[in-house]
Amino acid sequence: VESRQARNRRAVLAAVRFGRPVTRLDIATATGLSAATVSGLVTDLITDGVLVELAERVPAAGSAGGRPATALAVNPTLGTLIGIHLAHAGVRILLAGVDGTVRADHTYETDVDHQPTDTLEYVAATALDLVADLDIPHRELLGVGVAVSAPVLLHTQTMISPPMLSDWGEVDISARLTKRMGLPVHVGNDANLGALAEWRLGAATGADNLIYVMLSEGVGAGLILHGRLYEGDAGAAGELGHVTVAQDGQICRCGNRGCLETVVGERALASTLAHSHGLTCRFADLIALAGQGDPGVRRLIGDAGRAVGTALASVCTVLNPKLIVVGGTLAQTGEPLLAGIRDTLTRSVSPVTNRTPEIRPGALGTRAEALGAVIIAGDAAGLRRPAAGS
Ligand SMILES: [Zn+2]
Repeated sequence: VESRQARNRRAVLAAVRFGRPVTRLDIATATGLSAATVSGLVTDLITDGVLVELAERVPAAGSAGGRPATALAVNPTLGTLIGIHLAHAGVRILLAGVDGTVRADHTYETDVDHQPTDTLEYVAATALDLVADLDIPHRELLGVGVAVSAPVLLHTQTMISPPMLSDWGEVDISARLTKRMGLPVHVGNDANLGALAEWRLGAATGADNLIYVMLSEGVGAGLILHGRLYEGDAGAAGELGHVTVAQDGQICRCGNRGCLETVVGERALASTLAHSHGLTCRFADLIALAGQGDPGVRRLIGDAGRAVGTALASVCTVLNPKLIVVGGTLAQTGEPLLAGIRDTLTRSVSPVTNRTPEIRPGALGTRAEALGAVIIAGDAAGLRRPAAGS
């Protein structure tokens, strides 16, 4: 279990890493820590080379007329992080700074679910190629984060291999990538990491209670409650894709029937267009047709939104979030999807919660999950002195 010192240090880093330069007072306000605690942690982080004091002085937020104070920022030369998203049918690899600034972004379609060995070799080799392309020395690499479509408890790094990822059952992702890349590797659930990224860097900064919904080939949700990622007992909280929405629907890869993922997953949606648009219609075609205002596709996407809303409604009644952030590949279709979700929530969330949560598209697009992987890699790296000169 993480010590209080480590937790406070991580909270301070989170307040500094993402966004504009901040003062010590801003950090105390954002974290709820005392001025003395913040001051001590900041001194340690400066000594460790993680934070730097800027020449500019900034007015402290929230204290109009207050004396300008020294601004702090993450050391821009601290190093580079690698974020990897292993989705069901493709991978994404990002190289990014500790503040989440993306330096390289690579995607590749492949059968991740059934090719664990080839997939891990591909992402490791490609990430190291990207590093070489940018002339980044290996000693400047701080770590690797990996987003997977399986439940993971972040603080214990325990992954449950779900029934639909049976080929990954015996695979130790962290050990294999550490060996291949010579770097520390941290694994997290993809929808949870998408939530973390939208909360730290994207559409949900400043919200303490929110649900991030990832609508791609995999469908899932990440919950930020009381300003913390809520993972559930075994890391399986937020498995929205496996909520039953059609009693006599298709059999799901999880073994249940009529799960949300069998209705709004990429392949499920594309196959629904076989009768009207032909058997070869793929998800990429669906996205293009949506952009052209195709009426059948608009109807399909609105219905998908309503199915998502049906699965979300009781979750919203139970948890009373302030905000729903919609991400994943389907979110590219925009308003018809959001309108479908909004309609159903307005109708179905209990009036007891007083108002329907606001529904917003993600700000990070389909990069959110890989950026969340960058964030956990950075969180872990920021907790120790960087290996300068090694
Ligand atoms: Zn299922």
